[in-house]
Amino acid sequence: MGIEGTVAPGGPAAGESRLTGDNSVMALDSALPPLQVADRLARLRAGIDAAGVDALLVTALPNVRYLTGFSGSAGVVLVTGRGAVLVTDGRYRTQAAEQLTAAGHDGTVELCVGGLQAQRDALADAARAGAVTRLGLEADRVTWSAKRRWAEDLAPAEPVPTSGVVELLRQVKDAGELVRMARAAAIADAALAEVRPLLAQHVREDEVALALDTAMRRLGAEDRAFETIVASGPNAAKPHARPSKRVIVEGDPVVVDFGAIFEGYRSDMTRTFCVGGEPAGTLARVFDVVAEAQAAGVAAVRAGVATGDVDKACRDLIADAGWKDAFEHGTGHGVGLDIHEAPSVGPGSTAILGPDVVVTVEPGVYLAGIGGVRVEDTVVVTVDGCHTLTRFPKDIAA
Ligand code: ZN
Ligand code: ZN
Repeated sequence: MGIEGTVAPGGPAAGESRLTGDNSVMALDSALPPLQVADRLARLRAGIDAAGVDALLVTALPNVRYLTGFSGSAGVVLVTGRGAVLVTDGRYRTQAAEQLTAAGHDGTVELCVGGLQAQRDALADAARAGAVTRLGLEADRVTWSAKRRWAEDLAPAEPVPTSGVVELLRQVKDAGELVRMARAAAIADAALAEVRPLLAQHVREDEVALALDTAMRRLGAEDRAFETIVASGPNAAKPHARPSKRVIVEGDPVVVDFGAIFEGYRSDMTRTFCVGGEPAGTLARVFDVVAEAQAAGVAAVRAGVATGDVDKACRDLIADAGWKDAFEHGTGHGVGLDIHEAPSVGPGSTAILGPDVVVTVEPGVYLAGIGGVRVEDTVVVTVDGCHTLTRFPKDIAA
């Protein structure tokens, strides 16, 4: 059976994605399954124990959102063994209360809204109530000065560095998250379908980027997932070029790397086109090799595989073609509330893929003076393979 079955009561069967299969923009009116926010705190507490701390002070905003549903631009959550408190300022009084309720956190997450001192006091009270002695901080996200301040504010609890505790949970997406990511991807697919004809009309890179960004917003995106890349001709040799005033001309490779945000969740896709049809010379070979490498990478994705092996599947093909040094970035990354999140998919990466983890597969070859090609899909890992969220065709003519 394919991986596009509908969601069965009690969750997907082995090997099945939680997606309903139809992520076309046409399906955008249908009701969204809720995000399963309320049970995340219980799963986090297991991670807190494993990290050897009594509590976790969550300061990274995507992690705050993941755990509580609160999407404001300022907020901190302290999760102890027995409770949780969200602190934020007066701008978010109503929003925070509404979002906690919507997430099913009434009674499980205490809300404190007020000035800085009131917020610090609330966190200190919660730490005392939870008898916290070893306080986990998110070491990858906390500045040195913030660490000193937390040590003072929450004394006698002792700050202890932790890494990736919430991020580990975020790797595995629930049904509601997967549907939102599929919608973000479908919006991006539809935007590119609208904008693709522009590539052959002697427009500038930045005009194409603006058209894509505008189309995504019109189609329902709340924002773009990151700064859209449109890189043509020699600019295509720069993996992260910013859209310039360069006019796209016949024979150019054009790398288009972009994504949408839908209800907080991001998509990420790259297609490389050849303006005027068929590429010539070395560039023709580059298009073929990258397409082959990308397909090999996607084919390597399944539960139980190390992300380093997905990288190797892509990298070996490119090395065999003689362009080992022209593929200078990792093969991919996790995607979700952040555009780059765990797990990374690079040389030697040891993270093991599991069902409903979402990663990109995006090998590229970049040759200074000639151009470059990258092809990227965002895929959902299943027991026996993966399900592709980004579905724009891979034919290269523009
Ligand atoms: Zn991308
Ligand atoms: Zn990417």
